[in-house]
Amino acid sequence: MHIRTRFAPSPTGFIHLGNLRSALYPWAFARHNKGDFILRIEDTDQERSSLEAVEVILEGMAWLGMDVDEGPIYQMQRIDRYRQVIEQMLEKGLAYPCYMAEEELNALRDRQMVNKEKPRYNGLWRPEAGKILPNIPEGVSPVIRFKNPLTGTVSWNDAVKGVIEISNEELDDLVIARTDGTPTYNFCVVIDDLDMKITHVIRGDDHVNNTPRQINIMKALEGIPPIYAHLPTVLNEAGEKMSKRNGAMSVRDYQKAGFLPEAILNYLARLGWSHGDAEIFTCQQFVDWFDLEHLGRSPAQHNQEKLIWLNHHYIQNADPKKLAELVRPFAEELGIDTRSGPDFVEVTALLKDRANTLIEIAEAAKLFYLPAPEHSPELLHANIPESIRPALKDLVDALSSCEASKHAYGALFKQILAKYQLKMPALAMPVRYALFATTQTPGIDSVLLVLGKDESLSRLSKVLA
Ligand code: GLU
Repeated sequence: MHIRTRFAPSPTGFIHLGNLRSALYPWAFARHNKGDFILRIEDTDQERSSLEAVEVILEGMAWLGMDVDEGPIYQMQRIDRYRQVIEQMLEKGLAYPCYMAEEELNALRDRQMVNKEKPRYNGLWRPEAGKILPNIPEGVSPVIRFKNPLTGTVSWNDAVKGVIEISNEELDDLVIARTDGTPTYNFCVVIDDLDMKITHVIRGDDHVNNTPRQINIMKALEGIPPIYAHLPTVLNEAGEKMSKRNGAMSVRDYQKAGFLPEAILNYLARLGWSHGDAEIFTCQQFVDWFDLEHLGRSPAQHNQEKLIWLNHHYIQNADPKKLAELVRPFAEELGIDTRSGPDFVEVTALLKDRANTLIEIAEAAKLFYLPAPEHSPELLHANIPESIRPALKDLVDALSSCEASKHAYGALFKQILAKYQLKMPALAMPVRYALFATTQTPGIDSVLLVLGKDESLSRLSKVLA
């Protein structure tokens, strides 16, 4: 079987991590099986859909490296096709016009509720052999309803939830076209999944209730229903459904906050799927390992700390050159001119081990691009005590002829510390202060190296003058 999966988002605004996971799993399943991955934009709710939201979806997918074989295919461009199928269904007697007015339907529902029955359409306009239908009222445009089987059951073996079986008596005749002729959501999904030859529908489990209706329509059209895998919801850290209202971050927010796509992808991969106890893996490994058998059966819960941990891991292990290019825009945003001053790749390499996000690297990098500090005499005196000046002077004298390497700088420090019987902080703190007017910096030998010997000497000599 040639595997074909799809991601079918409704572009109605906010895209959180849970939404993107619904794209990632069908994508990985298609890639694993050398199949096709289709992007379908479910934009028939024209009031809520926006092009901006489509942009965000496309951008998020591209950022994470989810490539698409077909699409984006917009449902709004397929309206003629849906109408054509509705015509065919009317001709074949698979669907029928229903003239029950809105008020009548509401009254029916109210009666059913009073009688403690499940509210459902009563089949008044459903044609049957020997049945006499009411007279068609004047001036009423009908909806079109699907003739759901009256008896028997509809079932499927869900790849996540196991066998699900629903009695057809539970399902009334679904409206497939509204009074203005526009097709309804559940109907479009069926036609698309059939036309696009989707073999596996991997989607959120908020669609489980739609599935029996969709399967019945497919069968009526003599289509073969796909395999369904309904993914349990993603909850936020408080255990609530993820949404913008309760503080979920959008994919763009993560990008802007300096997360790496590798970290997000790795995180999402594990948010509802597992491969033994593997926590860190590449995208290729994910694709190689992905299967439907190891999808989680219970809701996944977002864990920001874990995501940060993964981001830190990918930052720490990134190639410094590539990383520097990723940090550069964040640094420029902070007003740092990364082209003048110390080599930005070296600065990034020095700072990456302590950073959780690209922004944190950019923030820390500022230190190296600010002009030499102007020290006030009092602070200078407080931070560089008189007693340390001889050692500092020795350091400056020796530094000019010292080889510029981390190792040589380290050895030089050791030598001076021994000579003056000092501990590292006693010398390193004043040096840091002299260089940057702060004592919070990475290792002093690396700092001297990255700032450059000339610049370091000039700043150190200034405080000794
Ligand atoms: N458009 C639906 C949504 O965004 C998904 C429908 C489907 O995957 O079948 O929730």
